[in-house]
Amino acid sequence: MAHIGIVGGGLMGCATALNLLEQGHSVTILERDAGGLPASVGNAGILAVPEIDPLARLDMLLSVPKWLLDPLGPLTLRWQDLPALTPWLIRFLLSARAGTAAESRKALLFLMKTAEADHVRLGAMAGLSGHMRDTGALTVFDSAAARDKVFAHEAENARLIGCNVEALDVEEARRRVPALSGPFAGAIFNDGYKTFEYPLTFLRRLQALLRDRAALLDATVSRVARAESGISVTTEGGRTFTFDRLAITAGVWSRRFVADLGLKVLLETERGYNTTFMNPSTTLEMPVFFSEHGFVATPFENALRIGGAVELASPDAPANYRRAAAMRRKMRRYVPDLPEEGGTEWMGRRPSTPDSLPVISLHPGDPRIAFAFGHGHLGLTLSATTGRHVAQLLAGEGESALAPFSIARFQ
Ligand SMILES: Cc1cc2nc3c(=O)[nH]c(=O)nc-3n(C[C@H](O)[C@H](O)[C@H](O)COP(=O)(O)OP(=O)(O)OC[C@H]3O[C@@H](n4cnc5c(N)ncnc54)[C@H](O)[C@@H]3O)c2cc1C
Repeated sequence: MAHIGIVGGGLMGCATALNLLEQGHSVTILERDAGGLPASVGNAGILAVPEIDPLARLDMLLSVPKWLLDPLGPLTLRWQDLPALTPWLIRFLLSARAGTAAESRKALLFLMKTAEADHVRLGAMAGLSGHMRDTGALTVFDSAAARDKVFAHEAENARLIGCNVEALDVEEARRRVPALSGPFAGAIFNDGYKTFEYPLTFLRRLQALLRDRAALLDATVSRVARAESGISVTTEGGRTFTFDRLAITAGVWSRRFVADLGLKVLLETERGYNTTFMNPSTTLEMPVFFSEHGFVATPFENALRIGGAVELASPDAPANYRRAAAMRRKMRRYVPDLPEEGGTEWMGRRPSTPDSLPVISLHPGDPRIAFAFGHGHLGLTLSATTGRHVAQLLAGEGESALAPFSIARFQ
């Protein structure tokens, strides 16, 4: 059995570590901020198996000009960062061509098909059960025409995934989620969604377990390098580790290690914002998507989280929390009882590739190194599946179906 290092202890790092432990390896995770709040803790907590459409697709591109006009709308770009984002944006445009988008959809479907079962399996490895609730999700629309257009496509996706969708009128939608007392025109219910326990609790449970069963070290990795004797990892504290194999799972920050290892990748942040109300006075029976406005509200056991949207920006640019406030304001149109004050705002960095496909891949020139990052909007959903695939790749058992996720596509 091998000694395997993992850089980054978010969802991808933890899911990979548990799968490697299951194979009998000795695992060391290096995490620079184990008490921090990366994407893996602030996400919307939804197992979003029906979401097999890549972001880069023609109908999405057609909405972009309208969205960019609203600085607090579903999509913004921090214009100072445009030069750095340009290569990613060009590849995004190319990925929206019909044939390429169809290939991406097929590849995402392959991962989604096992996402739920993989989470059940990961939960069992971690001694968790009941951490995903069978809620389904509602999407509300401002016009019946918009609902009907989306419904046809969601029904087709549901057929591929094996779930069910229903078009609902306002009365039926309010029967299922009474807090939606503001005006809207109709809704879609999709039973393929599930809701996780509070994402912070979920990640902390995995990390605590790994502190027990593996080594989870508080360390900032500054450099990784290949050597004949192993893969060396140097930390900011000046320590050097040599591992038999290594997985890079550092979210958007993975790109510097990709460069250390002589490769290229297009990986940028789609930053998202949300507000969490603890013990809210009003809540929802299930997640509710306000897709025309680019955000979602998720009810957890003692919390309600409202957020989403996309801000293309450098990961280190200052946060603009007016975006979180704008989503709360919009939500009050539909849920007038939503409190004005008292929530906690958060900004998170979705690590995103331009074709919406994560990198789940071995280094093309060195099978001792694996990459698992770039899951964008779907990293919670796909973490357990990714961890399983990475462990198999490092064991030399790669599947040809993983080819679309190879880092080779960026070389
Ligand atoms: C607003 C929002 C809502 C979302 N909602 C959902 C959802 O409902 N469902 C879903 O499936 N997905 C959702 N996502 C996406 C999901 O949260 C991410 O795709 C996922 O968390 C990415 O996990 P990760 O482990 O790759 O990255 P991260 O969570 O970013 O973790 C990377 C880790 O690497 C560590 N690290 C970085 N650099 C170093 C270094 N040099 N040395 C050591 N450690 C380092 C970081 O500290 C961090 O802990 C959402 C994201 C956002 C922002």
